[in-house]
Amino acid sequence: MSDCIFCKIANKEIPSKTVYEDDKIMAFHDLNPQAPIHVLVIPKTHFESYNDMNAEHAEVMGYLTLKLKEIANILGIADSGYRVVCNCGDDAGQEVKHLHYHLLGGRNLKWPPG
Ligand code: 5GP
Ligand code: ZN
Repeated sequence: MSDCIFCKIANKEIPSKTVYEDDKIMAFHDLNPQAPIHVLVIPKTHFESYNDMNAEHAEVMGYLTLKLKEIANILGIADSGYRVVCNCGDDAGQEVKHLHYHLLGGRNLKWPPG
């Protein structure tokens, strides 16, 4: 998608503080962090949200999900704990229409989030 910020980050048209990258996924620090550690993890394939996920995305999403603990480990929060959030649609406050997980940690995160 030519006008998608996260596709531009994946294509290196926009710089990011990358934590992990391979041919399928990318993890980079959020521009406006909501916790001491706040990283976004994206599939390089563009699709908007859970509502647009279909069977062709199963492989990359399974792969991405298995990589989360590895990314948490790189960030030093695997043992202290972390939260994975995926906002879908307006009521969840999804701003960027390219599916992404927020990986948050580095402090005791409140629950419920409110
Ligand atoms: P959403 O509300 O869609 O779940 O989350 C979008 C996230 O992307 C927000 O936390 C926002 O701070 C982050 N973000 C928006 N634009 C950029 C950008 O250009 N670079 C980075 N690293 N993060 C961004
Ligand atoms: Zn995109």
